[in-house]
Parts: sequence; structure tokens; C-alpha cells
Amino acid sequence: MSDMEADVIIIGGGASGITAAVAAAEKGASVIVLEKGSTTGGAANMGMGFFAVESKQQKAQMVDLTQEAAFKFLMEYTHWSVDARLVRKYIAQSADTITWLEKMGVEFLGAYKYFETSKQTWHVVKTAGSDKPAERAASNLYKALTEQAEDLGVQILYRTKATKIVMDDGAVSAVELVGEDGVAKTAECNAVIVATGGFGNSPQMIHDYLGFEWGKDLHSFRIPGVDGDGLSMLWEAGGGHTKATMELTYTTPGVTDVYKTISETMRQPNLMVNLDGKRFIDEEIMNNTVYTGNSIARQRERVAFTIVTDSIIDDYRAKGLDYVTFHHNIKTVEKWDKEVEAYVSGAGVEASGLSDLHNDEQKHTKNFWVCESLKEVAEVTGIDYESLVATVEEYNQLCATTDDQFFKPYKYLRPVTGTTYYVARHFPAGYGSLGGVAVNDEMNVLDEAGLPIEGLYASGTDACGIFGDSYCFYLPGNTMGFAINSGRMAGYNANAYIESF
Ligand SMILES: Cc1cc2nc3c(=O)[nH]c(=O)nc-3n(C[C@H](O)[C@H](O)[C@H](O)COP(=O)(O)OP(=O)(O)OC[C@H]3O[C@@H](n4cnc5c(N)ncnc54)[C@H](O)[C@@H]3O)c2cc1C
Repeated sequence: MSDMEADVIIIGGGASGITAAVAAAEKGASVIVLEKGSTTGGAANMGMGFFAVESKQQKAQMVDLTQEAAFKFLMEYTHWSVDARLVRKYIAQSADTITWLEKMGVEFLGAYKYFETSKQTWHVVKTAGSDKPAERAASNLYKALTEQAEDLGVQILYRTKATKIVMDDGAVSAVELVGEDGVAKTAECNAVIVATGGFGNSPQMIHDYLGFEWGKDLHSFRIPGVDGDGLSMLWEAGGGHTKATMELTYTTPGVTDVYKTISETMRQPNLMVNLDGKRFIDEEIMNNTVYTGNSIARQRERVAFTIVTDSIIDDYRAKGLDYVTFHHNIKTVEKWDKEVEAYVSGAGVEASGLSDLHNDEQKHTKNFWVCESLKEVAEVTGIDYESLVATVEEYNQLCATTDDQFFKPYKYLRPVTGTTYYVARHFPAGYGSLGGVAVNDEMNVLDEAGLPIEGLYASGTDACGIFGDSYCFYLPGNTMGFAINSGRMAGYNANAYIESF
């Protein structure tokens, strides 16, 4: 016997689930959202904005990126290994989603790049009373979506965990859950949308599906709640497996998101080496944190080091940093001495709290050093000394001529000379997992044979397979963009399925 019922039950009230709820309810479906946490918005409350193409903000800012160009770019980037029909629909809907949200009272600061060579697709949400980009600005968007959902009669059950999708004769019929009171219940429905945000908080699944050992060779964000529940339930219900990936970046535990000037300075395009003391990257690409993360992940022990000297710092004091990120906005090294002293003495600085979400005991391990010689650099880091000396000599020669090893532009070729060496140790990191279950371009879940399962939909991170093997930072805001847009599609399509009875 069922304890409650609705046309559509949505598992997970994060970015994708709450958007799906509004979309389905807007079309007339009765909707229940099961959210195991205490808020909607999920991991996306930490974010700032999302992807769209041909939006009114882009037009006002003279951004000439077209839907056609964005589509071709992403399909080229993924070598056509992803669902072109889904990519096309996502891109086509993206600008309308901005307008749709504006009607709910959401405001945007505009469209931004994530780094210089990326496209201007990141629509950053405006925080009330401020014209400045702010960390966690996207939480305003989820407040607006939640209010809209409630106005449309959506029932949001907080602290309620879905445990099983019940199938009847090949079609979805109910969801089993454990309510806030700890009592197991059943909710009947005609369609289910699963949007539980992947498995970024499950070291076991990270190990089993991605081959990393969290806390050792991966220091990705651990957002509470995203434990892989949805994927497990989908697979159990007959959903087909697809290869999951990690939205990989890189980090310096205990430094990134804490000592922002040290962190940003050690991410400038200066010499990077691996434990063997060898250079392995054209450091110009370091502003693409995904490419850098990929590159670090394939080094021995999955670590890498950047080295700068006092003479390079002096150059930055005079000219400012090469790379300035929009969200950190650190342009100079004016706080360098203060931060270095605070790090070395252990005094610490006031941090945003973001670092706590992707650091473990490593943050108490030293990952930044001030050394007086290359010998000391090798001793504290474990980098092979002989090889490091040879690499520095070779690199300094390239700086005097041209980088015919990896072709880094001359303007970033600063020799490693001086009396003080600053070294940072970097590890692969990431925002979370991506994908794992097969869906079609209607967000309908497919079985192992590639056939749609009646009434079963998935959206957001659980179903995000549109980036191929690496997240596409050249089109920034893409994971939240996919979460919101795929949620909207799933909501409309689940409703259409119900109306087809
Ligand atoms: C620090 C940070 C910053 C980010 N910034 C950006 C950005 O600016 N732009 C961008 O594009 N992307 C950004 N992202 C990524 C973005 O947050 C995700 O792409 C997005 O949140 C994915 O949406 P989702 O709905 O799939 O999952 P989530 O938003 O994580 O929501 C999943 C929800 O499901 C719930 N849930 C899980 N299991 C169950 C269960 N069994 N029963 C009930 N509920 C359950 C969880 O509690 C959670 O609320 C950022 C991520 C992080 C960590």
C-alpha cells in the first residue's frame, strides 16, 4: 500500500532536481521532491553561474558565439563520442532557460569567461545589493526555483532519502524512501526523475569507477549528500552503465582556497616538474585546470610541483600576475610576503571554508615550501635532485632562446634564478563525478540494450555524459548548465509521458 502519490517523483532537490520539479509542475503534473538534505540546490549552492549561448546578456556584451559554433566546438572537443542530439537540444534551450529564470526573479551580472582562452558562456548570478561576483552566488537561483516550485504546489520532503525505484512490468511504479521520521515508506508515481548529483562524496565509488584513492592521489570536493545513491538505484532498476568520469582539476591541499595569493601565484605559467624532476607540460595551459589536472594525474604518484624564485616574484611585483581568474580576482602579489609568513609560521589566514570540502589530512601536510637551494627543494619534496638541476639548466636556456620543448610563449619564459625558491605541490582535484547511467536525448533512462525504460528519467550529474573524457572548461558553466537544462528537459518530458496515457 502506498503512503503518498504524485505524477512525478523527483529524487534529489539539487540544481537539476529542483529545476525538473518546476518544469514538470508548470506543465500541470503533481510533483514530490525527495531531498535527503535540509536544503535544495545541492552542490550548486557553492557555484556562481552557468552556461548559455545566444543569451540577451551575451548579445548586450557583443559576444559573437553562436549556437552553431558552440555545438561544433563541443562535438569537436569530444571527437563526436557524445550524444549529438542531446548536446544540440541543451545548447538550443540554454538562452531560453536564462529568460525563464529571470521571470522567476533571478538576476545575472552578465556572461563571463573562466580564463582568457575560454568562451564567454558563464552567466554569473547576481547577489542582491551587490554588483560584484561572489562565491556561492548561485544559491540565490535555487532560492528562486524553490519558491517557484512551492507556488506551483510541488511538495518538497526534506531529510527524506530515496532508497529504491520500484518497477512493475518494465515501467516505473513507485519509489521507496525513508522519511524525516526514520520510517520507511512507499510513494506511488507514474514517472521518476533521478537527480542525485553523482558520487563525488563516495571514496569507494571514486576508487571503483575512476581508479583514484581519495585523500591520497585525489583531493576533489566532497559535497555532503552526493553519495552515488541515484546511480545505484538506477542500475538496480535496469539502467544501463556508461563510463563515469571526474570533473578533474588540480589543487594544493591546505593552500588552494585558503592562501589565495600563494595559490594563484603558484598557478602562474612557470616551471612545473614531476617527481622525476622532469618538465611535462606547456605551462601556458595551466589556466585550464582540467588539462592541468589530466596532466598531473598521469605523473608518478600523481603529483607535480611548480617552482618560482624571488626574482620571478619581483617581476610580478612590478607587472602583476600573468593569469587573473574572474572568481578569485588576485591581480598582484601585494599579499605575498604576509601570506608566506602566515603559512610558514602556521599562523594561518581567514579562509572561505571551500578548502575544507576537498582537503583531508593532506591540508595538515606541507604542500608549500620556501627553500634556499635546489638541493633543499629536492630534499623537502622528494624530487630527483640530479634531474631537477638538469631540468632547471635546460629550462633557463630555453628562457634565453625559445621553448622548443613544449612551445610555451616567450612572455611566460621566466628563468629559475635567484636566491629563494618557492615550491608548491599539486594533486589532481575535482568538482565531482560526471555521468554513469545511459540516457537518450529526452533524458529517458536506457537499459543495457539501449532501449528506453518507461517512466524513468535521469538528469544533472548522474546523466552528464556530454563532455567525453574531460570536462570542457572552454565553455564555462557547463556542468551546472547541463544540470539545469537537463532537469528542465526531464521535467517536461516526464510530464509528456504521463499525458500520453
Ligand atoms: C565548489 C563548487 C563550485 C561549483 N561551481 C560551479 C559553477 O560556477 N558553474 C558550474 O557550471 N558548475 C559548478 N559546480 C558544479 C555544479 O555544482 C554541479 O554541476 C551541479 O550541482 C550538479 O547538479 P545536480 O542536480 O546533478 O547535483 P546536486 O546539485 O549536487 O544535487 C544533488 C542532490 O541530490 C540529493 N540526494 C542525493 N541522494 C539522494 C537520495 N538518495 N534521496 C534524496 N536526495 C538525494 C543531495 O542531497 C543533493 O541535494 C560547482 C561545484 C562545486 C563543488
